[in-house]
Amino acid sequence: MTIIDKQINQLPKEIIFCKKCSVSNQRPRIALDKDGVCGACLNHTSKNKINWTDREKELIELCQEYRSKEGSYDVVVPSSGGKDSAYVSHLLKYKYGMHPLTVTWAPFEYTSIGFKNFRNYIKVGGFNNLMAWQNGKFHRKLSRLAFEFIGDAWQPFTYGQISYAFHIASKFNIKLVFFGENGEAEYSGDPRVFNLKGMPFEIWNEQYLKGATIDDLIKTGLENTNYFTEKDYDNSDLTFYKTPNINEMKDKKIIFRWMSYYKKWTPQENYYYAVKNTGFKANDDGRTEGTYSKYASLDDLFDGFHYYLAFIKFGIGRATSDTAHEVRDGHITRDEAIRLVKKFDGEFPSRYFTEFLEYLDIDKIEFWRIIDKYRSNHIWTKKDKIWKLKQTIYDDILGNDEIPTYISSIPKD
Ligand SMILES: [Zn+2]
Repeated sequence: MTIIDKQINQLPKEIIFCKKCSVSNQRPRIALDKDGVCGACLNHTSKNKINWTDREKELIELCQEYRSKEGSYDVVVPSSGGKDSAYVSHLLKYKYGMHPLTVTWAPFEYTSIGFKNFRNYIKVGGFNNLMAWQNGKFHRKLSRLAFEFIGDAWQPFTYGQISYAFHIASKFNIKLVFFGENGEAEYSGDPRVFNLKGMPFEIWNEQYLKGATIDDLIKTGLENTNYFTEKDYDNSDLTFYKTPNINEMKDKKIIFRWMSYYKKWTPQENYYYAVKNTGFKANDDGRTEGTYSKYASLDDLFDGFHYYLAFIKFGIGRATSDTAHEVRDGHITRDEAIRLVKKFDGEFPSRYFTEFLEYLDIDKIEFWRIIDKYRSNHIWTKKDKIWKLKQTIYDDILGNDEIPTYISSIPKD
């Protein structure tokens, strides 16, 4: 069994949940302190001590330093048209007087609401944008490889989402690249990067790529499958999946910044901001599968599978991630979070299951064979042919008797 996600073997065998929020120690790179509180909660407490007026001054100074005199592009903002990137780019352009070139690494399959939001972002928000569409045939194969060997078909999107912006910055000689939030600090991960202004290029691989680069994925595919061969791609197809050369970026003095360093990051506030300024609309099909929210990432038909696979691998899904952030923001209590986790975490993303299988060119049997490959023994147990989480955050409080059926059984046709 070949798995190239290096995070899986490093999971602690004893599952512990944060005492303050809903996340567990199974989240990759997370650290809980001696009192059982996770890094993101601790970081949130220290965020309240941050002088945001001073941080804004830093932002203003940064913009002064990088703003172009003649009005040419001076900052690259990777943007999906979602609430967070809309907030970042709009703020930089209209409040801080920058000249952003927004760039978009295309989703696998746009949802209709996702495409509408993207169009509105350009039309209502008022932005220049470059969108990169991948070689679709190759991208599908990469996604299948990533699903099989990394346990996340989403990974080829991640490669380009990070890299494309820097290729464009380098090409157009733009020195500043602005992302939204520091995911490690906001959703709990590696404390080494909590207080940084941007991700150092040297640790991109372990932080963003699960320790598996595009080259690792391709090599694994060539060696272990009969559906992927060297005829499926050439070097030009790989361009935007690969991170640009670190030395080249350093020579050109290109820097990486997170808006969450300069501005207090509250997803709900970003949502209101995007509704007001870029014509953003919430999900009109009702809530997003796997969670209770209507405004979380909704650009891509397949993003539900990204969270579902995280649920399989780590025992914590999208509702865990959403509630943990909301508990820290003081919008809900931990008890409410636990109820929401029990109700929604791990819900199977059935709405686009057929499209997902077609996209990857696999059948249901293959889908479930791969899913089961990613269930660790310390997280899952099988009783009467039904998979069950060994331990949940709601065991002690709500009981583990009426686990929602979607957690443990294959959905009906
Ligand atoms: Zn926590």
